Amino acid sequence: MSRYPAEVDVAIVGSGPAGATYARILSEQAPDAVIAMFEVGPTVSNPPGAHVKNIGDPDERAVAQLRSEGPAAHDDGDRVGGIVKTTQRRARPGTFLLERGYQVDGEDGLPVAAMSSNVGGMAAHWTGACPRPNDSERIDFLDEAGVFDDLLAEGERLLGVTTDAFDSSPHASLVRGRLAAAADEGRDDHAKVQRMPLAVHRRDDGRLVWSGSDVVLGDETRGNENFTLYDESLVTRVLTEDGRAVGVAVTDRRSGETHEVRARFVVVAADALRTPQVLWASGIRPDALGRYLNDQAQIVFAVRIRDFVPADESDPAAATGLSEYSGVTWVPFTDELPFHGQVMQLDASPVKLADDDPAAPGSIVGLGLFCAKDLQASDRVEFSDDEVDGYGMPSPTVHYRLTSHDHEVIERAKAEIVRLGKAIGEPLDDRPFMMPLGASLHYQGTTRMGETDDGRSVCSPDSEVWGTAGLFVAGNGVIPTATACNPTLTSVALAVRGARSIARELV
Ligand SMILES: Cc1cc2nc3c(=O)[nH]c(=O)nc-3n(C[C@H](O)[C@H](O)[C@H](O)COP(=O)(O)OP(=O)(O)OC[C@H]3O[C@@H](n4cnc5c(N)ncnc54)[C@H](O)[C@@H]3O)c2cc1C
Repeated sequence: MSRYPAEVDVAIVGSGPAGATYARILSEQAPDAVIAMFEVGPTVSNPPGAHVKNIGDPDERAVAQLRSEGPAAHDDGDRVGGIVKTTQRRARPGTFLLERGYQVDGEDGLPVAAMSSNVGGMAAHWTGACPRPNDSERIDFLDEAGVFDDLLAEGERLLGVTTDAFDSSPHASLVRGRLAAAADEGRDDHAKVQRMPLAVHRRDDGRLVWSGSDVVLGDETRGNENFTLYDESLVTRVLTEDGRAVGVAVTDRRSGETHEVRARFVVVAADALRTPQVLWASGIRPDALGRYLNDQAQIVFAVRIRDFVPADESDPAAATGLSEYSGVTWVPFTDELPFHGQVMQLDASPVKLADDDPAAPGSIVGLGLFCAKDLQASDRVEFSDDEVDGYGMPSPTVHYRLTSHDHEVIERAKAEIVRLGKAIGEPLDDRPFMMPLGASLHYQGTTRMGETDDGRSVCSPDSEVWGTAGLFVAGNGVIPTATACNPTLTSVALAVRGARSIARELV
């Protein structure tokens, strides 16, 4: 007996925050609709999709991370935490790298392009930074009459975004104040140095709770008897008839059996590398599919806070990846300075010296500047008709090059990060470091949205794939602009709009 239904109203592929947004909005606005969510990875946390940092026991947390690391999940002792200064191909806990095809000879490639396979997707492992896009990061054709900001506000609601969770951090305001003094001049208020909006809240007992897909799903989805989540279920194909999506082919990873589930609407929210893979495997191949791939080159630098006065309290959150000592400060992207700044204290600092540093904990902060990419159609993920990946899906190959403009922006970011770092304290290293490409974990553009079907986009402003009615795409791949800021809030905002358009047709 198959554990899947023969027919549903909406089939959602992928259980990260983008897929979860569709489930939540549909549960709220079309409660009679039967929704099936298919996730290739296992359930690793409770409630399903919860952030693994909320798992108190470190051994249990490590198991949850390991089980998220794809078809060949194994612990080779080479996993790393936080941001690490290394040129090696190493995966962050909870993620796994492309086995091959990450760099073609003569190109820059994305050597550390990574994914997560678990209920909740990457958002069971993320840092939760949820800045709003600014200036050219914004999507101008959605920007009329405050529409885009309304969508972003709805995204903040779904992700449980707050700005005050770290207000008790002993050094947060010191770090923020020094950065503001160095960077605020000439900036509009919304682009001034400020607290980073984070998908986290503090419980009454003082513990931090990080949002994952569980928060996006919420009680509304969990309590919806028409909603079912199927884990360990690989969607291999979207079924189409006469130019319309009519269901999915799904392989039960427990039994190995394949089934077809009919659906009136299909949403593919399988991350920016695997959403185009599912479309390609289905024979849905618009010209722009996989193209305009962009990642944010990431520059890191560490400093010891000047005139540092150690705090008395211990730091219970340090073991989970983000120290509470300095909070998280945001230096917003502007068109004049096209980088997004994230400044925080990490348990694994960019400079390894921090681990055995005799100085007081929290005295070292890591600065990260993410750079917006120069978009090119030739930067792309392609799929093979012959070779397959670890799940048996078409094998991806990444073509990716930095342009001379990208190199220029990276050099400017290096100069700026040193300037900002010196405003906070004493640098630990002579020079800033650029992480291997792909380290940002923010891949975008591969199923990009466009205002019209002009061959440079894959989907409409409602996220419906051009030429395939009833098929929607979701996630960072949909973002059409070159953002430098963390993209998940924007993806969730775009998913809200798509989900509303399905809800309108269902009720
Ligand atoms: C360590 C870390 C820190 C991060 N920090 C931030 C941050 O601070 N801010 C930010 O904005 N972003 C951050 N990110 C990135 C963020 O997690 C992603 O942007 C977000 O999770 C994307 O959501 P999504 O739903 O589009 O995709 P995902 O969360 O990747 O979910 C996609 C899901 O689809 C499933 N899937 C894939 N193919 C199939 C298939 N064929 N069938 C069924 N299921 C399939 C996958 O297993 C996966 O679970 C971070 C990520 C990591 C790992």
